[in-house]
Amino acid sequence: MSKEDYEIVIGLEVHSELSTKTKIFCSCPTEFGGDPNTHCCPICMAMPGALPVLNKKVVEYAIKAGLATNCEIAKECKNDRKNYFYPDLPKSYQISQFDIPICSNGYVEIDTDNGKKKIGLTRIHIEEDAGKLNHDAYGRGSLVDLNRAGVPLIEIVSEPDLRSAEEVESYLRKLKSILEYIEVSDCKMQEGSLRADVNVSVRKKGAKEFGIRTEMKNMNSFRSIVRAINYEAERQIEVLEEGGVVTQETLRWDDVSGKTFAMRDKEDAQDYRYFPEPDLAIIKISDEMKEEIRKTLPEMPEKRRERYISEYKLPEYDANVLTSEKALSDMFEKATEVCNNPKAVSNWIMTEIIGFLNSKELEAKEIPFTAEQLGNLIVLIDKGTISSSIGKKVLNKMFEEAKEPKVIIEENGWIQISDEGAIKEVVIKILEANPQSVADYKAGKDKAVGFLVGQAMKETRGKANPQMLNKMFLEELNK
Ligand code: ADP
Ligand code: MG
Ligand code: ZN
Repeated sequence: MSKEDYEIVIGLEVHSELSTKTKIFCSCPTEFGGDPNTHCCPICMAMPGALPVLNKKVVEYAIKAGLATNCEIAKECKNDRKNYFYPDLPKSYQISQFDIPICSNGYVEIDTDNGKKKIGLTRIHIEEDAGKLNHDAYGRGSLVDLNRAGVPLIEIVSEPDLRSAEEVESYLRKLKSILEYIEVSDCKMQEGSLRADVNVSVRKKGAKEFGIRTEMKNMNSFRSIVRAINYEAERQIEVLEEGGVVTQETLRWDDVSGKTFAMRDKEDAQDYRYFPEPDLAIIKISDEMKEEIRKTLPEMPEKRRERYISEYKLPEYDANVLTSEKALSDMFEKATEVCNNPKAVSNWIMTEIIGFLNSKELEAKEIPFTAEQLGNLIVLIDKGTISSSIGKKVLNKMFEEAKEPKVIIEENGWIQISDEGAIKEVVIKILEANPQSVADYKAGKDKAVGFLVGQAMKETRGKANPQMLNKMFLEELNK
């Protein structure tokens, strides 16, 4: 038997921090960072006797997420205590939802090599985040910071419907894009606003039963997730091929060694002793409330994609890339409003901007300049103030200093030379310096013109208007 005889099965539990202003059970701010223990109060620090009050916005955001992922919304649900001890969980229980989640039975559609595929969502429930431990680098101990304790989360649990690391990546990207479109989470993965517990098992192709799974918790980079799944699936296949059995356990992925390691606690065997939270009321969701929230759903990526094709006449490929992320899509629309040249905006975003983001491992929301500035840059190119090769240099500078393109061009003396006299001067100079090319042209080698234009561009450090150069070289050569 070999690797090809096995099928990988993956199910994800995705945690997403909601971008409400205040925490789930108190009015402390949810803002990321801050000096340790400055975003806390007796409730989120778990002082004895402090009483939680559910933030209504959390319920609304969770319903919004459920509606956007085709879930059924519970008419009535509740909060439950999940008991476990952890140093950054001062209550020794987490308020979550157990048997009746707020949303259930939904799906997210992803694109695969074999067309569209629906990934089932078992449930979405609301819960509170825990604090954070800051480990002393010198091993002298750990300090607890409760700023994150009580930040609202939704946990989105998928069915074990995913069959490869690629499907997992496209599912996660889709989910992230949906949450960003509906503006319930900023999904900043490096800040932990979106993180996934990844459950992986393997089975022989054609087998009916699932294999035994392992779980890797709190993963927050696409790259690590893909690597971890492939590594873990291979490890499990090896275990089975050698006649062993996979142990159901929680593993830790180590990005440096590219391996998974067993964590000491095998918490899959843990009994959390859930029981209904006695300090909180039943959550009732009326049809009216649900419909009001449905009305606030924005235009989703699929709709936008269709509109880009019909309204802006963009190729399907462009429309797909642009709408894959809300930040890109918003930038495209606003920049197009400024310059009225949708295809140019699309090209700049798809090649230069996405290329830059990938090379620096940045997210689209981290683009430092505004859509208006991008639009202004394209206007300057369309007007001939600068060439598009200078445009690329300007854009690179915009990533560094987020200044108006006009200012960058003036500061660097990059205005295109479109003055006839100045162009003629360059042309004459280049012709005199390259008698061989002139002779070549006269002997019928038309290519010589391209060489001469190139020399002139070099001479002017890319600032000469290439169309004018071309025209004037031909005029001079044909005299
Ligand atoms: P818990 O982790 O709390 O025990 P579940 O057993 O419901 O919860 O499963 C959690 C996640 O594990 C779900 O996303 C589910 O799709 C996934 N999962 C369950 N069984 C398997 C399996 N055999 N292989 C891969 N993923 C699985
Ligand atoms: Mg789990
Ligand atoms: Zn608080």
